Amino acid sequence: MDIHEYQAKELLAGYGIPVPVGGLAYSPEQASYRAREIGGDRWVVKAQIHSGGRGEAGGVRICSSETEIQEAASDMLGRRLVTRQTDSRGKLVGRLYVEEATDIAQELYLGIVLDRASERIMLVASSAGGMEIEEIAVEEPDSLLRISIDPAAGLLEYQARELAFGLGLDSRLVNKLVKILMASYRAFRDLDATMVEINPLVVTGSDDLVALDAKMSFDDNALFRRPQISELRDRSQEDPRESAAADRGLAYVGLEGDIGCMINGAGLAMATMDMIKLAGGAPANFLDIGGGASPERVLKAFRVVLGDANVKVMLVNIFAGINRCDWVAEGVVQAFQKLDVQMPVIVRLSGTNVDEGRRIIAQSGLPIITAETLAEAAEKAVAARPTAEKAA
Ligand code: GDP
Ligand code: MN
Repeated sequence: MDIHEYQAKELLAGYGIPVPVGGLAYSPEQASYRAREIGGDRWVVKAQIHSGGRGEAGGVRICSSETEIQEAASDMLGRRLVTRQTDSRGKLVGRLYVEEATDIAQELYLGIVLDRASERIMLVASSAGGMEIEEIAVEEPDSLLRISIDPAAGLLEYQARELAFGLGLDSRLVNKLVKILMASYRAFRDLDATMVEINPLVVTGSDDLVALDAKMSFDDNALFRRPQISELRDRSQEDPRESAAADRGLAYVGLEGDIGCMINGAGLAMATMDMIKLAGGAPANFLDIGGGASPERVLKAFRVVLGDANVKVMLVNIFAGINRCDWVAEGVVQAFQKLDVQMPVIVRLSGTNVDEGRRIIAQSGLPIITAETLAEAAEKAVAARPTAEKAA
């Protein structure tokens, strides 16, 4: 789960990390009220969306009067902001964060991530802050410093100090950075985060360190024990198809094609998406119904996929081990009875109870297209798309 910048800043400030003074606003009036509350004569109005790259997309505006703040706020609020990290639809700006402007002398990059290859938490830092980490890796690879953290010992002060010196900071700032690194790591561990990113962490004109931007993601599987984090969820930032599926316990990823997929097992789902592509089509989603799926679960999955207006064809591909083809077949038949299925449905069943499953489909009298193999199923799904779509 992702959270907003202002929420991440509040959490990190709780661990002692310095952040600019700021306040949340839902309207232009509130935004200028916040500025008055903060005081000073320069402010930053920042769109709160679950994405970086807001600066270059017009989602971060420096203002020096209340009129400018109100203008910036009414430009942003209620609009969808498209950044290079969002899809082409962008994300809805429903909240703004107004901050005192910071005088920047230098921008640093600081990230804490899970490195799955080494099975460790990794601290990453660079003196080329402001840029995205992918760009730093390409354009300034030598500036990237990494520390792999031993899970038993945690981040050690000498490691943090080495990193601080490695960034070329003068000795006055080294201790401050060490505190920030230690605190970020503590926040990461305490809150079951999967990512903490402070980009930029800035050296100010008065030689202080301030987290100017902050991003945090959390382990979904640990949210049950982090109620104060779960509360921060903002559904307006999520793909509605994905949140509907998550609420039903289904692993779902929305994509941009028109062939709806319902598959068991992540590996088979990936293979099926490849086969659809090979046959000249494009999947509308990734959906793993998991093992031992009951007819009710299959029905739920159908409802989620059909809820996507892009879907023009439905492909069910089951290689049953723990699953039972007869249950899946029953679920498909129930979907036809209970939902308004107006599109071609291709079903390929294989494995446990396959004969019973095929019998249920055959005897249902429903216009279900069946296939024996994965390749055949993918080809039939692509061929079954409405002709106008095929031309497009
Ligand atoms: P992002 O584009 O979504 O990552 O948003 P950031 O919060 O990182 O802001 C993007 C850029 O805007 C930063 O890298 C800064 O260069 C600039 N910026 C943000 N806040 C301030 C500020 O208070 N003062 C100044 N001078 N620049 C700022
Ligand atoms: Mn940033």
